[in-house]
Amino acid sequence: MHKLHFDNAFVRELPGDPMHGIGTRQVDGALYSLVEPTPVAAPKVVAYSAEMVEQLGLSAADIARPEFVEVFGGNALLPGMQAWAANYGGHQFGVWAGQLGDGRAISLGELVNDAGERLELQLKGAGPTPYSRGADGRAVLRSSIREFLCSEAMHHLGVPTTRALSIVLTGDTVVRDMFYDGHPQAELGAIVCRVAPSFIRFGNFELPSSRGDVALLRQLVDFTIRRDFPELQGEGEALYAEWFGQVCERTAAMVAHWMRVGFVHGVMNTDNMSILGLTIDYGPYGWIDDFDPDWTPNTTDAGRRRYRFGQQPNVAWWNLSRLAGALAPLFTGVESLQAGLDRYAATFAAADRLTTAAKLGLAECRDGDVELMQSLHQLLHEGEVDMTLFFRALSDVDAYAPSLDPFRHAFYDEAKMWSTEQGFQAWLARYTARLVEDSFSADERRARMHAANPCYVLRNYLAQEAIDRAEQGDYAGIDELLDVMRRPYEEQPGRERYAGKRPDWAKQKAGCSMLSCSS
Ligand code: AMP
Ligand code: MG
Repeated sequence: MHKLHFDNAFVRELPGDPMHGIGTRQVDGALYSLVEPTPVAAPKVVAYSAEMVEQLGLSAADIARPEFVEVFGGNALLPGMQAWAANYGGHQFGVWAGQLGDGRAISLGELVNDAGERLELQLKGAGPTPYSRGADGRAVLRSSIREFLCSEAMHHLGVPTTRALSIVLTGDTVVRDMFYDGHPQAELGAIVCRVAPSFIRFGNFELPSSRGDVALLRQLVDFTIRRDFPELQGEGEALYAEWFGQVCERTAAMVAHWMRVGFVHGVMNTDNMSILGLTIDYGPYGWIDDFDPDWTPNTTDAGRRRYRFGQQPNVAWWNLSRLAGALAPLFTGVESLQAGLDRYAATFAAADRLTTAAKLGLAECRDGDVELMQSLHQLLHEGEVDMTLFFRALSDVDAYAPSLDPFRHAFYDEAKMWSTEQGFQAWLARYTARLVEDSFSADERRARMHAANPCYVLRNYLAQEAIDRAEQGDYAGIDELLDVMRRPYEEQPGRERYAGKRPDWAKQKAGCSMLSCSS
């Protein structure tokens, strides 16, 4: 582990907070504060991602070394590491919230691996920082398991995301009031090590801009382009415009993937939007079981449902327009920022059409196919049909003798199955008539559809089962689930249970359909 190479460009090249210590404060004119993790009592590795271990240049033997658990539990730093918490702001639930910052995340360094990839290592739950705003800087085991598993599951699904290396149990307890209803409980504390080329968020740009600090804003933009978008050439406004356009395109691609696989982020505040277009900050996220564009897993947002499934493409646009507003002082007019936002809309529309073609098994998406997908969405909603099971089963439709039989297991409510049966029959007739206009064989079509419609997703209740076991000291459920999620598009004999629809007990259970920001 001592051979790992670190190149901590963020803290080396950018201005930091002159003050030290963890006291909560407003940090002006600086993009981070140097702060080390607070040691924990008895760190213990309870899960790790073998893929990340390898990518970092570590080996399985390293995991067992005492040094590993000390570093990733926050009790020690490796040579070359330099720990910091980033300073950023953000719009939370549509309202400017001022300075937020890494209140419980501490970056350890920017590792550069043998392949030359830059991988920032960040501990979440590593203790207080100047940005903790009175909170404890810690994270509980349940939310750490959720972040760890979902980061890796999303990667294997082909969705741009931050990654996760490890979960370390701290040996300390953390008090949380899970639903903010006056029932605080002591829970097990844990730390996830997250990994990404960059953890810079929209909010990192919003904060200096909100304070009128254009020089600092420009410094951060120049740095981000140089370090994180090295392929971009040019200078001045034209370079900034191209960069913003790229951010818009990446964000569009990410959200299109979320809509394809049925992922609901749950807290799309601008401080939770990665400048690299990676899914970041896995909190009260959830997966669609029965198809419902209005569903959100986040009880903190239950009233307005700002971050509901079907709203995500619009929210991403709104967030990008906040970023555009923050960057405006670097531009003489608004045209090129508007052009970037237009690139978001165009990229999302194109990606959404590709999704439609891929999910339906069509060679291309024609205008009529957009409408075909919309009417299917309507039916899935009305019929309370499981999104993942339905699309997976769609690849088994006989184009010459369509029937509802392959789909019956995907309905949650038998009465709704009967009441929507005619609608589904009519839709299948339209769909199969469209299928035969393409030249795919049934096998070709199935292979194409299987690559776009996962068999396994990290259903909320599956993660909760792994959490329930882990809270009893049995961590094997985390590994088992991670292993299933490694090949989400392949049917895995013997693992049918992980592809089943949500059981009735999970419909209203905390952690399964109801989550809050308390983590
Ligand atoms: P989130 O909703 O998780 O994105 O968090 C919003 C802000 O609250 C970020 O600045 C976090 O760092 C901070 N935060 C959340 N939980 C804690 C905690 N337990 N201790 C300190 N800061 C926190
Ligand atoms: Mg956050």
